[in-house]
Amino acid sequence: MGLDAAVYCDCYEKGRVRKPPPQPELVYVDANGQVCFKWDAAGADQNAFYGWLSEACDHGPTGELISYRLGNVARIAFLRELLSASAAQFSVLLSKVIQDGTHAGDSLGLVDIEHLIPEIDCLRSVHSRDPLDDEMIRQFERQMSGLIEAARRVKKPIVF
Ligand SMILES: [Zn+2]
Repeated sequence: MGLDAAVYCDCYEKGRVRKPPPQPELVYVDANGQVCFKWDAAGADQNAFYGWLSEACDHGPTGELISYRLGNVARIAFLRELLSASAAQFSVLLSKVIQDGTHAGDSLGLVDIEHLIPEIDCLRSVHSRDPLDDEMIRQFERQMSGLIEAARRVKKPIVF
């Protein structure tokens, strides 16, 4: 168990997929920006859809532009405790990213993502004397920066 985060690509919407989906009338993009399939429609062939999706573009098997394991439960708890010492500087991170180490199925929209940018700037000045802990903080900082950059580029949420 742990905390994963991703931003989905926009290859399907931009017409940059290698070939059209097998049943395009059953394909849609959900609020998280993920290409989805109306699997319960009459005649829907889920296997054909997922086969197409995994090969549709150069990104992850379900269209992840970028995806990271932010940490296991212990690592997220460590980061939460560390940042709680300056809670006012990290309100979005603490309430919507690392509130726990297992949330999934929720997302962070573009407005919240704009608020995250100064929080990641503040994170750059957070250090630990322990080199391993410090590297953990730096990795989290790099991952969050990558997720934010990708989300702003394709104008899609960060999905957990
Ligand atoms: Zn793609």
